[in-house]
Amino acid sequence: MADTDVIIVGAGMAGLTCGCLLAQKGLKVMMIEKNQKVGGCCTSFEKEGFSFDLSVQSLGECQKGGRIWHLLEKLNLLDEIHFIPLEPAREYHFPDRKVTQSSRLNTHIENLSSLFPKEGKGIVEIYAILKKIYEEFSAVPSSFNWFEPSSFSSGYPFLSRYGEKTYGDLLQGFVLDPFLKMLLSIRSSYALLPPEEISIAGMAGIEMSYFNYGVSCIEGRVEQLPSKMGEAFKKMGGQILTGLEVEQIVIKGKKAIGVKLKDGQEMTGNVVISNIDAHSTFSDLIGERHIPSGFRSKLKGMRPSLSYYILYLGVAGGLEELSVSNNEVFFENNLQKEYESLSKNQISEEAPFYLLAPSKVNSSHAPRGKSTLCLSYKTTYHFSTDWNQRVKDKLSQCLIRKASAFIPNLEDRIVVKSETTPKTIEQWTHNRWGAAYGWAQIPRQSGIYRLTRTTPFANLYLTGHWTSPGGGIAGVVASGELTAEAVWSRFEKGEQ
Ligand SMILES: Cc1cc2nc3c(=O)[nH]c(=O)nc-3n(C[C@H](O)[C@H](O)[C@H](O)COP(=O)(O)OP(=O)(O)OC[C@H]3O[C@@H](n4cnc5c(N)ncnc54)[C@H](O)[C@@H]3O)c2cc1C
Repeated sequence: MADTDVIIVGAGMAGLTCGCLLAQKGLKVMMIEKNQKVGGCCTSFEKEGFSFDLSVQSLGECQKGGRIWHLLEKLNLLDEIHFIPLEPAREYHFPDRKVTQSSRLNTHIENLSSLFPKEGKGIVEIYAILKKIYEEFSAVPSSFNWFEPSSFSSGYPFLSRYGEKTYGDLLQGFVLDPFLKMLLSIRSSYALLPPEEISIAGMAGIEMSYFNYGVSCIEGRVEQLPSKMGEAFKKMGGQILTGLEVEQIVIKGKKAIGVKLKDGQEMTGNVVISNIDAHSTFSDLIGERHIPSGFRSKLKGMRPSLSYYILYLGVAGGLEELSVSNNEVFFENNLQKEYESLSKNQISEEAPFYLLAPSKVNSSHAPRGKSTLCLSYKTTYHFSTDWNQRVKDKLSQCLIRKASAFIPNLEDRIVVKSETTPKTIEQWTHNRWGAAYGWAQIPRQSGIYRLTRTTPFANLYLTGHWTSPGGGIAGVVASGELTAEAVWSRFEKGEQ
């Protein structure tokens, strides 16, 4: 008899979602997390009285009716986590103008249509298609067989029609003005891809997960979300082992029978769920000799998303200079160029940067009379071989100089400084190359073509941003729910 019904490797937001839902059904679930705390990417840290959220700065699907809101309702946590709506969601600063983006779809469409009156019809049509694709994808049951062509094209006509196209392809057919195309594509940068590469399904996920239920941040530190979910999981009888790393997923025949930890402990389970990097799951924890050759070559050809260099600053004074907390600064009206440099492992002098001021909405992040700032660049892991201090200093000086155009005397106001690189993200989460969103959302790795939650091993499942639908907190919560549904149906049918 196995030690437990379900073992979950990794306690990121997807593992926690899946674990809570299965424990709520009465299954015996054990979660194993290598860090001392749960949450993975969704974590926070403190330095000299300032609080910083490592990565997650804004979330979709949190307001009443959204996916995350519903999850918290089910777990009885709505009174414990408070969301702050961000409206407007952000400001984009271009060389010759500033554009404010609403988090409400109708307002956003009206704003764009008044800027480009001749293109109103195309704008409406683009969002109608994104909405349809998002709805179809969200409605697919976990048991659906994508590769049964007739039921796919009749049940999911938009996914079937647009599944292999990029967002750039979609724009071509509906709008003409190059600056409008740029504004309509600007959030593809949240998948770290240009419009010419991101899939329509990936873009639909990014846009609709924000527009359907607004954009929010969490009051206080973002890590409260995973931490409260971990407490709820334990109250439902779940067990979390922290500070313990899984070294091996033990395979016998075509089944996963349990895990072996780095400290030598072994545990058996009827089902194993991996919430960690998919490459690491199969190549390191299982071992290539167990993997069917077709699946092995599929994995080898897959491309992770890019990463970030982030500079966290505690600064003296308020930040009245900025009118909103989330800002993005562009030095030219061209989204593609930045990615040309990134493809050569470079960050150009004209690279756009994020200028976030979390304490403007979350005053508890900074001591009284002070503020927090997060400045960041998109980057590749291989931008530097070792991410030494000299490399980090060069990037931080560059960001501070550019941000000084918005915040006068910034250099003199800095009281606390910390930074994160792709290497730090990789060390913390074990996501290869510090990938921020699992596999890049390009058409062949997106929508129906993304890795599914089932694997070549009957009782081994995946959850998290390396599987469907993809990255971002709303995405991995969806993934956790879908994996829980698939695993629960297995137990219901008595399949062990
Ligand atoms: C810099 C950055 C900025 C981001 N900004 C946003 C944002 O603003 N909004 C948003 O919605 N999303 C954002 N994201 C994306 C989002 O944070 C992730 O997509 C999501 O948190 C991933 O969750 P996950 O559960 O799939 O995996 P992870 O968070 O990667 O969790 C995996 C867990 O597994 C553990 N683990 C790994 N290997 C082992 C092992 N062998 N044994 C035991 N445990 C192991 C890790 O320690 C980790 O806790 C950002 C990500 C990054 C990196």
